Amino acid sequence: RLIVFEGVEGCGKTTQLQRSHQWLKTLSLSVIVTREPGGTDLGTALRQLLLNVNTQPIYHSTELLLYVADRAQHVEEVLKPELANGTIILCDRYVDSTVAYQGYGRGLSHSLIAQLNSIATRGLESDVTIWLDIDVAISLARKQYQSTSDCAERSAGGDRIEQEKIEFHRRVQQGYTELAQNHPNRIVRVDASRSVAEVQEQIQQILLQRFPE
Ligand code: C5P
Ligand code: MG
Repeated sequence: RLIVFEGVEGCGKTTQLQRSHQWLKTLSLSVIVTREPGGTDLGTALRQLLLNVNTQPIYHSTELLLYVADRAQHVEEVLKPELANGTIILCDRYVDSTVAYQGYGRGLSHSLIAQLNSIATRGLESDVTIWLDIDVAISLARKQYQSTSDCAERSAGGDRIEQEKIEFHRRVQQGYTELAQNHPNRIVRVDASRSVAEVQEQIQQILLQRFPE
């Protein structure tokens, strides 16, 4: 099973993904956690280039291609082999991030992104995508608060994307909203403005309902 977590900055994806991981382990299931960008060694290098504020300005089309390159490597090196082993995969971001950020956020062609995503995934879709939906004003405030204690790649004041204006994040949010409307079976919306425990509870219910075995 490929279970993907999506949402804007500060929606609580990483926290919920870790909690879901702990929970699935208590059920004695074989489960791994991975992420995009950065789920492979190559991807880790790409992630550093993409997120570092000190990198030279990256053109939008270059950025798109780097995210897609990260995905192509991740699908072949991690996702496909692990799925073939029967492992449950919890993945932090996947194809919808590219549509939301580079499509809606940057304004790049949606049909071009769809083509590039299909090259990178070779048709591998998630079994379910959990969209943690939250107002961007709330999520960005949360992120601000976290960023000092966050990973080393984030220099003070947040990373490259976090420094985008709020309008950018609103367009990304609009992207997720439309994606959820267009893929009602694959994408499940979760109200991420509630407490960590409440959100986790709903995620567990969704997963139990989708995958009762
Ligand atoms: O929150 P996360 O650790 O996934 O951060 C990855 C960063 O890359 C975020 O700032 C996110 O907005 C950005 N990103 C992006 N386009 C993508 C995927 C991630 O701008 N397709
Ligand atoms: Mg995160």
